Amino acid sequence: MYAHASRILHHETNPGSARALMQKHGDCYVWINPPAIPLQTDEMDAVYALPYQRVPHPSYGTSRIPAYDMIRFSINIMRGCFGGCAFCSITEHEGRIIQSRSQESIVQEIEAIRDEVPEFTGIISDLGGPTTNMYMLRCQSLKAEQTCRRASCVYPEICAHMDTNHEPTIQLYRRARAMKGVKKVLITSGVRYDLAVEDPRYIKELAEHHVGGYLKIAPEHTEQGPLSKTMKPGMSSYHRFKELFDTYSRQAGKEQYLIPYFISAHPGKHDEDMVNLALWLKKNRFRLDQVQNFYTSPLASSTTMYYSGKNPLSKVDYHSEEVVVPRGDRQRRLHKVLLRYHDPANWALIREALTAMGMKHLIGNRRECLVPVATVDERRNAKPYHKRDTAQDKTAQPELTRFMGEGRRPAAKKNVGKASNKQGQSGKR
Ligand code: SF4
Repeated sequence: MYAHASRILHHETNPGSARALMQKHGDCYVWINPPAIPLQTDEMDAVYALPYQRVPHPSYGTSRIPAYDMIRFSINIMRGCFGGCAFCSITEHEGRIIQSRSQESIVQEIEAIRDEVPEFTGIISDLGGPTTNMYMLRCQSLKAEQTCRRASCVYPEICAHMDTNHEPTIQLYRRARAMKGVKKVLITSGVRYDLAVEDPRYIKELAEHHVGGYLKIAPEHTEQGPLSKTMKPGMSSYHRFKELFDTYSRQAGKEQYLIPYFISAHPGKHDEDMVNLALWLKKNRFRLDQVQNFYTSPLASSTTMYYSGKNPLSKVDYHSEEVVVPRGDRQRRLHKVLLRYHDPANWALIREALTAMGMKHLIGNRRECLVPVATVDERRNAKPYHKRDTAQDKTAQPELTRFMGEGRRPAAKKNVGKASNKQGQSGKR
């Protein structure tokens, strides 16, 4: 019933047509109002024209505030997101209809930063929002926009009604970087790459002028099963984006790279999916420093999957799809360490996991293997996890027993180790 309620809630998020929701509790009702009407550009401008001080509250004194360091030279150009990623609740907080500021209002804020914020060096650290390349984009059919109940305008594919012309964003970037006293404008907010490939001019502009060596983008996974639970596009648009980004970077004479972000332990991820993702990372020579382990956030559909084991992205009833959920520290840790397959500290754990999953062929020194075989010393010193007696080892032991049993999908075993081929095929599709 919780999954069903969550699905209804997400259907009633369009301010043009949402109905109030009521849920009975004893003699009382919880009443949920429909979302607020989105602000027009002049209203957004009025909000951002308020006399903000742009410095921390004096009560902080001279303390260093890391969050302030991150945002002091960064500008929010819009609100809302129509991506609908299942693990994110920005759509529920800010709405699916993009509310954009005018170019004029943004330019005034850059001037305010340039003239008033201490220690400004001429670098604007971001012109962004929840998804930076959704600026000024919205549904081209007013009637459809007011009645639509889709959770995303870009999943499973970009809706035919969605405007994908990035011209306003390109114009904004050009104007911002031409301003007196501005040396560089970086884009560090998330870029929705399946949307960007619809307008390669935007990728060119980005690669030529607005990337500081690395651009972070978030495919989140490579396998279709988990992608369908996160509502993220397939890897074919990632490959297309990478191709364009590399080409334009080369043409601009710049050596710069994409840093893909992946989420581990998200509902819908089997252990085999994580092994395939790890193999993809190894094949593409990615060594991730940081891995984001899924964490529940209020209102997100993924939270509903985590709690109920049901998929609220489609109709929910007693017979509807059950979602496998990596639960507890132990299995969550396994999913995380698989993405850091290159860290020797994780090898013992990964070897035991692969052995338990019947994938010993991925242990070895061949290129297609995930981790090397244990050295003689490692084997001599190794005890089975269940026989270890230090406090640290005791925490590691249940890790193995959990991932050996939970979240496995034996039928998929024959596909494991063929991630790269599958990706190539999906790219062609
Ligand atoms: S009709 Fe398409 S573009 Fe318009 S709001 Fe719905 S999903 Fe988005």
